[in-house]
Amino acid sequence: MKSDERIEEALEKLWEILVEDSSLGNSREKILAHTSDIPLELLLQEGLIEEVGGSLGYTASGRLAAQSAIRRHRLSERLFHDIIETSQEETMEEAACQVEHILKKGIEEEVCRLLGHPQTCPHGKPIPPGKCCLAAVKSIEQFVAPLTSMKKGEKGIIAYIKAGSKKLQKLMAMGVLPGNAIVLDSNFPSFVFSVGYSQYAVDADMAESIIVKRG
Ligand SMILES: [Zn+2]
Ligand SMILES: [Zn+2]
Repeated sequence: MKSDERIEEALEKLWEILVEDSSLGNSREKILAHTSDIPLELLLQEGLIEEVGGSLGYTASGRLAAQSAIRRHRLSERLFHDIIETSQEETMEEAACQVEHILKKGIEEEVCRLLGHPQTCPHGKPIPPGKCCLAAVKSIEQFVAPLTSMKKGEKGIIAYIKAGSKKLQKLMAMGVLPGNAIVLDSNFPSFVFSVGYSQYAVDADMAESIIVKRG
């Protein structure tokens, strides 16, 4: 592992202790008791954490770096969980740890938009919002939304299908694929939509799992 990656991993581990679960305590001993392989000296040297009156805490720059690393890690988890549908926890974690470093190179916001600006990771932990999320909250129309939130007659492009693999397979076998244009023809009593020249009727549960890029 490169040293900057090692630092990021350490900052992420500390996030849970210093920010998310203050009951763990933030003295050197408490932190090392919770996670022994954390390079505290390195983080202190780099000016990412500081020790004040026996308590460790992030410096301003350390906090920003940690928040951004946590955000990229949890977005990566979402990516593997929702889109690639990895169901194995270990595979997801391993893949997320590698991808979070690639996400830094400018595609983080693209991924966040694609995922619909998720607020939590698959474990239910909060994803710190990015600039893209704050902008999306401001705009009334979400960039991507489930088919169930579209209006009758509204058009869009299928962004991805969020479902257990059986549902996904069924929809894909029907020809409902990401990248295809979709029109919602009716939303009652079932969801009727067209993709190309074919028309489909699905229940609300299935419609909820079709995520559409609107407009
Ligand atoms: Zn998680
Ligand atoms: Zn976002």
